[in-house]
Amino acid sequence: MKNTIPWKSTIDINTTRNLFSLNNEILPYEIELYICSCGMQKRIIKGAKQELEKYQCSECGNEVFYDADYYLSNHAWYEIIENMPFYNLLEDNLKIEIKYGEDQKELLFLFNLQIPNSIEPSSEKVGYLDKTIYSFFVKKMAAMVQN
Ligand SMILES: [Zn+2]
Repeated sequence: MKNTIPWKSTIDINTTRNLFSLNNEILPYEIELYICSCGMQKRIIKGAKQELEKYQCSECGNEVFYDADYYLSNHAWYEIIENMPFYNLLEDNLKIEIKYGEDQKELLFLFNLQIPNSIEPSSEKVGYLDKTIYSFFVKKMAAMVQN
């Protein structure tokens, strides 16, 4: 079974569908979203910037959640990957994307982590952003020297 990285994401409630959306009213609330490794998902509505007590998963007791906002921000991904706190979960959570650069004639390999950052207004589903944590490219060998 896929071992999901446990994420915590703070989402502005005004970006989601809510009871007051029709009034165009800006609400001072945020949703704290927890996605646990065990598959449990929890949404807690709280005042903006309010700090909650440490959350513990009611299903498996896990207390460790990684801050999605931190990992999505311009934090130094150049740090050694092995030092990441969830290094042993990467294998199950990396999505490999391959792009072909027509002009450079090269293949670009991107190793992306999918990090939750929104709740889709239409479906209430969690939305994810791809964050590239590692990439490399391979040049086509067409330029090899001929004898
Ligand atoms: Zn859990």
